[in-house]
Amino acid sequence: MSGAWQRKRDILASLNHGNFVSGEALAEVLGISRAAVSKHINALADYGIDVCSVKGKGYKLFDPVFLIDEPQLLKECPNRCFYFDELPSTNAFLLQHTEELQRGDICIAEFQSAGRGRRGRKWVSPYGSHLYFSMFWHLPQGMSQAMGLSLVVACSLVSAMRQLGADNVGVKWPNDIYFENRKLAGVLIEMTGTADSGCDLVIGIGVNIAMPQQQGELIEQPWSDLRQIINYPDKTVLALALQQQLRKDLKLFELNGLTAFAERWHAADIYLGCDVRLLLGNDSISGRYQGIDSQGGVILETADGLQHFVGGEISLRQA
Ligand code: ATP
Repeated sequence: MSGAWQRKRDILASLNHGNFVSGEALAEVLGISRAAVSKHINALADYGIDVCSVKGKGYKLFDPVFLIDEPQLLKECPNRCFYFDELPSTNAFLLQHTEELQRGDICIAEFQSAGRGRRGRKWVSPYGSHLYFSMFWHLPQGMSQAMGLSLVVACSLVSAMRQLGADNVGVKWPNDIYFENRKLAGVLIEMTGTADSGCDLVIGIGVNIAMPQQQGELIEQPWSDLRQIINYPDKTVLALALQQQLRKDLKLFELNGLTAFAERWHAADIYLGCDVRLLLGNDSISGRYQGIDSQGGVILETADGLQHFVGGEISLRQA
């Protein structure tokens, strides 16, 4: 870790209890000038952290910052972990290193400057506030074997969150996690390979833990975060639970396919039996959502009877 990041981490640790701390006290504890403290604080704001600054009182964090416990992560994760303060994107990092990776290796960053969602959308990734996690996997039979995989990953996420006590979270086709109709976590799977020979996968997951207000305002749809559901969500425990659950579920998926997950999916599906709209590029079709089929596609009850839809270009919205 660079010296500059260590300083910022020290400042965050001093402010993380939520009270005001003067610039003078911070400078003294860190052994740097007040001007240097102020420079680091300004930089933290650029990394998406809301810092309140009041003349005569000093600085205060509006929201707690939950950093990964690196020693615990490295000790308890059975695979290799690559951990960074900042990266363009954890998915991009693993995709650049697929040749050296083994199934189950993970990458976590505290900040992503170019966090991404599906179809080139942006994933808002302020420093320390959330979990940005990617895991490498390899499917020996190629991309055709990956059909329905995003649903499996969503099921894994729900199971991992439940291990932390977040019971009432649900899934939205094909791979989002919702709490009270607001988006809590997203998944982006990226792959390289061919349809019928081995393919490398990177499974990217963003889980909101404590959203800073200003960053939340950048998101154009309702969102939620884990601290609305559980007290003191432990990001390291979540990352470890997720890595373990994904490994278990991906092996189950390879053996038994999507049928092994149908029950878990339907139990968590937030729109089952609801009127929805499917967005298909410039077109849309309305109907009653009847869950997923054996390929992981949407089953829609329409005026013309039951119809099945599958493909990465489709989005589901409540009617
Ligand atoms: P789809 O149903 O097609 O998946 P989506 O809007 O959920 O649609 P994604 O690509 O899964 O799209 O996610 C990216 C979108 O999620 C962004 O366009 C933004 O609206 C929202 N978003 C970005 N960052 C966050 C975040 N940290 N928390 C919640 N939502 C976010």
